[in-house]
Amino acid sequence: MTRNPHYDVLFEPVRIGPLTARNRFYQVPHCSGMGYRYPNAEAHMRGIKAEGGWAVISTQEAEIHPTSDLTPANEARLWDDRDIGALSLVAGKIHEHGSLAAIQLVHNGIHVANRFSRMIPLGPSHVAGDGLDPVQARGMDKSDIADMRRWYRNAALRARQAGFDIIYVYAGHDMSVLQHFLSKRHNHRTDEYGGSFENRLRLFREILGEVKDAVGDTCATAVRLAVDELIGPSGITCDGEGREIIEALAEVPDLWDVNLSSWSNDSQTARFSEEGFQEPYIRFVKSVTTKPVVGVGRYTSPDSMVRVIRQGIMDFIGAARPSIADPFLPKKIEEGRIDDIRECIGCNICTSGDNTAVPMRCTQNPTVGEEWRKGWHPERITRSENAEAALVIGGGPAGLEATRALAQRGVEVTLAEAGREWGGRVSRESRLPGLATWARVRDWRLGQLAAYANAQMYLQSPLTADDVLQYGIPHIAIATGSHWRSDGVGRTHCLPLAYLDNGLTLSPDALLSTGVQAIAVDGPVTVFDDDCFYMGSVLAELLAKAGRNVTFITPEAQVAPWSNHTLEQARVQKRLIDLGVTIITASCLAGRTAGSVTIACIYSGSTRQLDCAVLVPVTARLPDETLWLALKARENEWADAGIKTVTRLGDCLAPGLIAAANYSGHQYARDFGTQPDKDVVPFLREDIGILYPATA
Ligand code: ADP
Ligand code: SF4
Repeated sequence: MTRNPHYDVLFEPVRIGPLTARNRFYQVPHCSGMGYRYPNAEAHMRGIKAEGGWAVISTQEAEIHPTSDLTPANEARLWDDRDIGALSLVAGKIHEHGSLAAIQLVHNGIHVANRFSRMIPLGPSHVAGDGLDPVQARGMDKSDIADMRRWYRNAALRARQAGFDIIYVYAGHDMSVLQHFLSKRHNHRTDEYGGSFENRLRLFREILGEVKDAVGDTCATAVRLAVDELIGPSGITCDGEGREIIEALAEVPDLWDVNLSSWSNDSQTARFSEEGFQEPYIRFVKSVTTKPVVGVGRYTSPDSMVRVIRQGIMDFIGAARPSIADPFLPKKIEEGRIDDIRECIGCNICTSGDNTAVPMRCTQNPTVGEEWRKGWHPERITRSENAEAALVIGGGPAGLEATRALAQRGVEVTLAEAGREWGGRVSRESRLPGLATWARVRDWRLGQLAAYANAQMYLQSPLTADDVLQYGIPHIAIATGSHWRSDGVGRTHCLPLAYLDNGLTLSPDALLSTGVQAIAVDGPVTVFDDDCFYMGSVLAELLAKAGRNVTFITPEAQVAPWSNHTLEQARVQKRLIDLGVTIITASCLAGRTAGSVTIACIYSGSTRQLDCAVLVPVTARLPDETLWLALKARENEWADAGIKTVTRLGDCLAPGLIAAANYSGHQYARDFGTQPDKDVVPFLREDIGILYPATA
């Protein structure tokens, strides 16, 4: 297939200082959780994006000195020469496919607690850090400022030595000492580095000068700047100092990479924002500089990309998440394969990797993080040498991905789904408020499967053990999913609550299948959320929007605390407050009668009664394993029936994230025809000692 000429503009080369990017696809800096501890993983993940056609690929933030120590987070590190080897692996992999390698230098200022280095954090003034660590930053004096300038210069030189082409100076996300100096909130100085706008800009200007002076002859310099913090006049605003900073330094860097601060504003999920949500804030930038501009906004549609270029909003299509969900997005546009694009669903499971200090995972792309340690490629998978057929039962994310990847491997595969629609939980959950994009998990797989003659797919086909034994297909994958418990068992209540065993609860599944019509009675609804991620708050939102009086009970201190990892927690809590939901924290269930629920303080045990017509416990799920247990009970019949393996996948094995179900289906297809040895670690591990040899 050939490229649609409408998209030609996306493939124009663009100059960045002394360099030329081969097209307009630009992977902006994004964390990966791989960082300095897993350099091979990091290098292969970035290299695959270069292969997929991104013209520029950047590292995550690279700490330039041990006074900028984000441990236990796992970012890039350039503390001294010993870090050059690991980063040169990354630059090398990016260069293998003809892309430019960028590195985002940072000193994190007051954003770090320096838990590992135990050095005193540095900031513009004596201020508390932005975390909860009982640590304060020290206000920098003139000698500290001289040190900081030298550290940036040295880091830039090391970055060049490691092979990087574009050297970033980072002043974004409220995570950089340069933004801290710029900020009226953090900078309380009275010398020439504080007070007036020009004074607060001084260190930024000086450090940009240092970096340009050190490497600007051969490398391009880029600035990543927060143009708006979304906190009004107490912060940087796009019509205030955000604009003034760019006006003041307009032609100094070779590229402007502009976005929103903090990270939760920059990486908003689809539940809270649309594609292109940053445009109102960044569209001014090109009017004040002649240098190329890159911005982000979860762009997955090539038509939107063309529009932002044609409208002169930016020169490069910046992407973090769309490049994670589909590292081959540019190549697919280039080859006229638009329908093959695996669109990001905007769920931020990827950010949870960095936030929990492990390599990231992705709901859409099960291969991310496995490029090196399992050798998984997002587009390629070896043909199966096993000519035997497979039967996959259940068409949710696990079953769909297993079927798709088996079909890609050339296996004769049949998929049977009991229901009238594909997608399982993904279809049901995508009908909840704000989660429509989640249907892309289903739609991409169905679109891919349409091309395979070796995949047969049947809806309305609930299979029994008799059916499976009768078909005699050698390899059976059971992906029959899970259901929510109604007995209160979860993290807080370890045993079933007898007082719920009276028909007075409504399972989340009823709301998922039928919507608010599932509630037959009037009166207040109580959601008890012991799951602590998205489901409880989304159901509360659904109910409140339907006009129900909703009380949200959680044993935790805040609503949906795990959504801190997906950068959504504050927005989730605000949404429930705005919808008039009553939020009661630090409480669990203690009793239930028709018309009321009794709750208890998790600390003191003191109880109180609330009016409650309907209780929705969002606690835990149980696997739908009826078919598995029935087949297992007849294992002695398998051989005669021609069945060789029966494997459970996804939620049917253990309920978890959609990302985990997808991964489980993918793993099944990768392993098909092999017998993984359970006594062997199923992936390569990094030996950091090889890269950091002992010196004494
Ligand atoms: P997962 O997340 O693991 O993919 P889901 O709950 O999303 O799980 O999907 C499981 C799917 O399996 C559902 O669509 C359900 O209708 C289907 N299913 C369950 N039992 C059977 C069965 N016996 N035969 C065919 N399909 C089944
Ligand atoms: Fe997009 Fe979700 Fe994948 Fe992140 S995890 S890249 S938000 S699909």
